[in-house]
Amino acid sequence: MLIQGQKYSIIGAARSGIAVAKLLKLHGAEVFLSDKAPATKMEAAAAELSQLKIACEFGGNTERVLQSDIVVLSPGVPSDAPIVKQALTQGKKVVSEIEVASWFCEGSIVAITGTNGKTTTTALAGRIFDDAKRPAVVAGNIGLAFSQVVEDVKRDSTAIVEVSSFQLDTIERFRPRVAALLNITPDHLDRYEHSMEKYIASKCRVFENQRSGDSVVYNYDDDLVRSNVEAHVHPDVCKLPFSTKARLKQGAFVSSASLFTALDGRESDVIALDEISIRGQHNVMNAMAAALIAQSFDVPTASVRATLKNFKGVEHRLEFVRELNGVAYVNDSKATNVDSVWYALQSFSRPIIVLLGGRDKGNDYSTLYPLVEKYVKAIVAIGESGDKVMTAFKGMKPMSKAETMEEAIRQATAFASAGDVVLLSPACASFDWFENYEHRGRVFKEIVFTL
Ligand code: ADP
Repeated sequence: MLIQGQKYSIIGAARSGIAVAKLLKLHGAEVFLSDKAPATKMEAAAAELSQLKIACEFGGNTERVLQSDIVVLSPGVPSDAPIVKQALTQGKKVVSEIEVASWFCEGSIVAITGTNGKTTTTALAGRIFDDAKRPAVVAGNIGLAFSQVVEDVKRDSTAIVEVSSFQLDTIERFRPRVAALLNITPDHLDRYEHSMEKYIASKCRVFENQRSGDSVVYNYDDDLVRSNVEAHVHPDVCKLPFSTKARLKQGAFVSSASLFTALDGRESDVIALDEISIRGQHNVMNAMAAALIAQSFDVPTASVRATLKNFKGVEHRLEFVRELNGVAYVNDSKATNVDSVWYALQSFSRPIIVLLGGRDKGNDYSTLYPLVEKYVKAIVAIGESGDKVMTAFKGMKPMSKAETMEEAIRQATAFASAGDVVLLSPACASFDWFENYEHRGRVFKEIVFTL
């Protein structure tokens, strides 16, 4: 890709936008940053950009954006934003920040995508590499932008990158040595004209540039994932499926309550399921994906096992907060869709009082009914969609509705007796009462600690 002397416009001047601007400038491009947030909210960014001598504008995207050769999108910018549509109509090349970062990556790329489990699997894979003393950096949606760290990824090193479908929408040559597709369930459909096909197509772009020497790790139990991988992955790419149901000749599977992997005819008994430190069926799948990624880079089984035994999980994902009077309090604030709650409800061997609700994304709760019948003792409805939750589960279990998180925790505690779990797993976005899911999780934990 030609960088030197080329004009690049970058949409979005948050951390990733600034990082990609710096990277491009360093390599000789002429860069311009544009953000629609007002200048008063972007003072820190403006100061940094002025120091770097990078031109920028705030408070809207003007025509100047279109004077460049290539438009780069920060991860948070939707590919259907008006300025992007305009650029495309004018025949400009539009690419995502991970695409640009990948041009500068000397080492291998592992790209992890899916509707749920990306952060957990990325963090876990990163920890496995770390514990095995393999040089690797973890980047993408999980924290540091890929552009921010890519220059540290030398030939013998690996970038383990969490990738959202938005970032995949505008890739061109992004080619991971290992791509992992964890699952596909409805979420963010609003960004894909409510078309599941478009959402699937976007996720599947993670493997579109893969060829000989590359591998795809994928969920064999997820029909959408399996059928799409089998139909569209290049025939020379090594397929590494994982399944909790089928015994596979190649990939990862469960046998005699242990997680096994089989790669190139080598079968390894990686770990007994009850020794995996992160709980729940979904985390067995995440562990399988991470183990396959690691073994694709020849990380020894003993090292993978040691990390799977010790990894404590990621904050806000089924995070144990405290036990009080025999009641466990668990923060799963990151459960912002129904599918993650579906797994959360199956992750405990004790009755659950679940806090459900928030900003609704058009949720259909009916898939949860059998699980609520089986595992839930009571429901506390929270947030803007509290009434919808009350209606959806009417008559199934004792319920109450709360107007604040504090009230919700008090009500849940009143339902609970020793041996129960109070679980915040809301199935909804958090923007009704909170800034984001992290804020919601932190407030939950702070209140739980005051009990
Ligand atoms: P992502 O980064 O894809 O949003 P996270 O690892 O942050 O995924 O987990 C998001 C939510 O989904 C959490 O509530 C978590 O417990 C749940 N979850 C994690 N892994 C999976 C999985 N493989 N399938 C379904 N739900 C999962």
